[in-house]
Amino acid sequence: MIAPITSAHKLIVCHECDLICMDLPLATGEAASCPRCGATLYRNGSASVDLALALALTSVILLLLLNSFPLLSLKVQQVTRDTTLLRAALTMWDDGMHLLSLLVIATTMLAPAMQISVAIYLLCVIRFGDASRALGAPLRALQTLRPWNMVEIFMLGLLVSLVKLQHMADIVIGPALWSCASLIFFSAALTSVLTPRNVWLWARAADNKTAPTGVTHG
Ligand SMILES: [Zn+2]
Repeated sequence: MIAPITSAHKLIVCHECDLICMDLPLATGEAASCPRCGATLYRNGSASVDLALALALTSVILLLLLNSFPLLSLKVQQVTRDTTLLRAALTMWDDGMHLLSLLVIATTMLAPAMQISVAIYLLCVIRFGDASRALGAPLRALQTLRPWNMVEIFMLGLLVSLVKLQHMADIVIGPALWSCASLIFFSAALTSVLTPRNVWLWARAADNKTAPTGVTHG
């Protein structure tokens, strides 16, 4: 039998079908599902501020490596050429592909850098600062920046290019390509733990001076 919802219950809206459900505490490892559409509403995991901060700092290092080292080297008839991400974008600009060049810079350099910076600011405020400070603006900025981070699509395009180029030249994969692949993994992990729900739970835990623990969305 389903208990009636009263004003004493905390409520949550299903992100799939907008059904209003009760926000009940869960044991570790359990997940709450929407009774109408079956979507996972929230999950009680072991994500913490420290874990999110570690993922964010690792992403910073990988982003720096991605932008500092060559993506790949091409060797044709004893002539070797390598290129970095920025140099590739600037070459496109010089070749007249201005819009494409700006899109590459915006979606693979600026958006990831801003997204990680905002995430680190948010986590540092919760971890070291006054968690009661306004967290709404950086959270909204994170949600806005997320769709503009297209490192995965860039990586996919790069892999397709590698397959096509391998018949024309010897290709040596550069450190930046491995950094790019790792960045995709760490960014996805950071996104999965840095949910608005977790941020509010961590902020509340910090305010209450209790050990910060949170939940992970499935
Ligand atoms: Zn639903």
